[in-house]
Amino acid sequence: MDKLPTTVLDAIEQARSRAADPLAVFVYDLDALARHVREVMAELPAGVELYYAIKANSEAPILQTLLPLVDGFEISSGGEIERLQAAASDKPFVFSGPGKLDSDLRAALNHGVAAIHVESLGEIDRLQRIGAELGRVQAVFIRINPELPATLSSRLAMAGTATPFGLDEADVPEAIRRVEACSHLRLEGFHVHAMSHQQQVERHEQLLDLYLQRWTQWKALATRPGTITHLNVGGGIGVDYLSRERFDWARLCRHLEQRLGELRDAPLVRFEPGRFISAFCGYYAIEVLDAKSSHGQHFLVCRGGTHQFRLPVAQGHDHPVIHLPATGRAPSGAPRPWTIVGQLCTPKDVLSRGRQLVDAAVGDLLVLPLAGAYGYNISHADFLCHPRPEQLFIRAEGRRGGAG
Ligand SMILES: *Cc1c(COP(=O)(O)O)cnc(C)c1O
Repeated sequence: MDKLPTTVLDAIEQARSRAADPLAVFVYDLDALARHVREVMAELPAGVELYYAIKANSEAPILQTLLPLVDGFEISSGGEIERLQAAASDKPFVFSGPGKLDSDLRAALNHGVAAIHVESLGEIDRLQRIGAELGRVQAVFIRINPELPATLSSRLAMAGTATPFGLDEADVPEAIRRVEACSHLRLEGFHVHAMSHQQQVERHEQLLDLYLQRWTQWKALATRPGTITHLNVGGGIGVDYLSRERFDWARLCRHLEQRLGELRDAPLVRFEPGRFISAFCGYYAIEVLDAKSSHGQHFLVCRGGTHQFRLPVAQGHDHPVIHLPATGRAPSGAPRPWTIVGQLCTPKDVLSRGRQLVDAAVGDLLVLPLAGAYGYNISHADFLCHPRPEQLFIRAEGRRGGAG
């Protein structure tokens, strides 16, 4: 489980030989990304699409790798539209998220957005005005924050509780009435992105069951239910950073297939995961700068830190670590527990605690896997004015493209 692909290992070693200072680098295995996504797409039942939520990782080589494989993209800002344009995407995209600017909405319409997920009554009115201004009739999905049984809520719940996302079910009749009254809007579907980081397939099955049950009820609120064709069930498929067991995507797809087969008015279903798509392909490699003990605890102080890889603190977990001893040294002796920290002058700069490593020493490399989603891009890279880490994107035969 803790074996690095040789291509990743080679890229790290080459980066180190080029670097004047000790290393901190992100490496993304684009072949592994493509393989994983092909498998994910192959499981989708008929009538089910998958859009990639690019906020998980919108670096150009990631988008270019995904472009031929996924059905489309989900974006949440004007800046993300620019990212898609820069990747020369001709795939459909949809736009969700709170606090959309008028300029973002205009850019989305001008680039032919497939659907806008409206998050409030006010946004419906604004979009109507912009549609009229641009002379367009825009397809919209109403984003719903449904009532959820307590058993289905999670730590990162984005629905079933008070959130700034979407409309409460009590407001859905009014939202439908408003969209129907808007000459420049066309209601095409409903959208629910209820949680992030769902690790249990059973619970996600129950969530989909619940959405499909409500689908019929929500649709029935419309004057012409027949024109409402789509149900976007969001993302939120989790990654187990600790056990590293993969979410049983195939099982979820078979379950959905069966449920859709049972429905008389089955919607076209759209998934929009981010994390589950790009997490596995990324690695963060850092070099040990110092090894010390303090009040009975052992610390490895490394190049980089949580300002480059905020994920472990954001998730509140101790990230797995692969230890690469400096060349020429065969580690021996008993393992001892280490706290892996970065270069920041704050006690919060902790990447992992209690890592059992054998003979860890200055100059060794530590590699943090599962760093391809919500890793570098959610981090506060300018804190303390350290230089930003290099990001390397590797493809077959060691051909490498650098960026950022
Ligand atoms: C963030 C987000 C996603 C992707 O979530 P993951 O947990 O990364 O799968 C999908 N849809 C919306 C609306 C989002 O905000």
